[in-house]
Amino acid sequence: MTENHTGETHRPGRIEVVCGSMFSGKTEELIRRLRRAEFARQKVEIFKPAIDTRYSEEEVVSHDRHSIPSTPIDSSAQILLLSSETDVIGIDEAQFFDDGLIKVCNELANRGVRVIVAGLDMDFKGIPFGPIPSLCAIADEVTKVHAICVKCGALAYVSHRTVANERRVLLGETTEYEPLCRDCYRRAMEKETGGK
Ligand SMILES: [Zn+2]
Repeated sequence: MTENHTGETHRPGRIEVVCGSMFSGKTEELIRRLRRAEFARQKVEIFKPAIDTRYSEEEVVSHDRHSIPSTPIDSSAQILLLSSETDVIGIDEAQFFDDGLIKVCNELANRGVRVIVAGLDMDFKGIPFGPIPSLCAIADEVTKVHAICVKCGALAYVSHRTVANERRVLLGETTEYEPLCRDCYRRAMEKETGGK
């Protein structure tokens, strides 16, 4: 937040996207940015899809269990209703939201809100996930974070599902997904399809 020479407060709205595979530290990065804003006494609100109930109903929880309170919601439209007088809005697991999220983020940024969106860039098949690709396109800033490939130690690019399940929305536990680099993912796919 900056002040101009007339003493009027000017809030520069913007959209920041933090995306990457599972175990890449997306939520940790979202929390770091939100905590920093809280220290600056900015009003912070956090939303996540109601579907993400892995550990806790009320908190954004990252895998290392550093958490901050959040509001679970069913649709992106609720963010506009629930976020009046807010300086910074964090949205976690944004890949599970409807495409309306794109318009919502634009509207908030136009109102002078700093919007920080975290989410999976691709699903377990390497296909762009939900509203994340479009959000990357309209964002002021995109940060792509990476996990480490569990097979070779290179930077991972996808969250490979280790159990047979075609359902796209499957929430993550370490037993169900592993971060893989492009080479190791290709090899794993060849093995799974019998080299076809
Ligand atoms: Zn690898």
